[in-house]
Amino acid sequence: MRIGVLALQGDFAAHERALRDLDAESIEVRTADDLAKSDGLILPGGESSTILKQLLEDGLADPLRIFARTKPLLGTCAGAVLMARRVTNPTQESFGFIDIEVERNAYGRQADSSIRRLAPENEFVERGGPGTVEAMFIRAPMIRAIGNDVVTLIADDGVPVFVEQGAALACTFHPELTSDRRIHQLFLEKVRKASA
Ligand code: GLN
Repeated sequence: MRIGVLALQGDFAAHERALRDLDAESIEVRTADDLAKSDGLILPGGESSTILKQLLEDGLADPLRIFARTKPLLGTCAGAVLMARRVTNPTQESFGFIDIEVERNAYGRQADSSIRRLAPENEFVERGGPGTVEAMFIRAPMIRAIGNDVVTLIADDGVPVFVEQGAALACTFHPELTSDRRIHQLFLEKVRKASA
């Protein structure tokens, strides 16, 4: 099992470290060829507009769409923006891999960056284990609406921050920047099941 990490821009190296902590094999994805070698893909945090531009320029958008039909994806922060069905502030093209609407940079200036301890939903605890999650938000998008088929795994004061729909996982904070590996673990579990 090999996990692709989209490595066009952003904090992909931190995801690779997280995967290393879990003894998972990873590959940096910059081409359709790299993607074809991956059983699941992480879309990292960074600048979603820049990553989007690169994806389009490098001809990766269509291969990514095809990949997402059958393989698990985890998008964090900018990655979650790319995966969303609708993006505002400003409006931006996105892939619609998960039925969520996000507003970019929605936490405002004072809360540009913050760390919060969040109690996960039962569904998360059952699959990932107990205990609060240290959630690091950096110019984070806010999930403004979710579709009926979207399950909230972690919420912050009623606002979903880690959600799942089928093979897709989207997280508005940065689990790759803290030492809690439950989110990556949960993703690996999905990839394992999908590729079994
Ligand atoms: N503000 C960035 C965006 O909308 C996301 C920030 C991040 O990934 N830390 O693309």
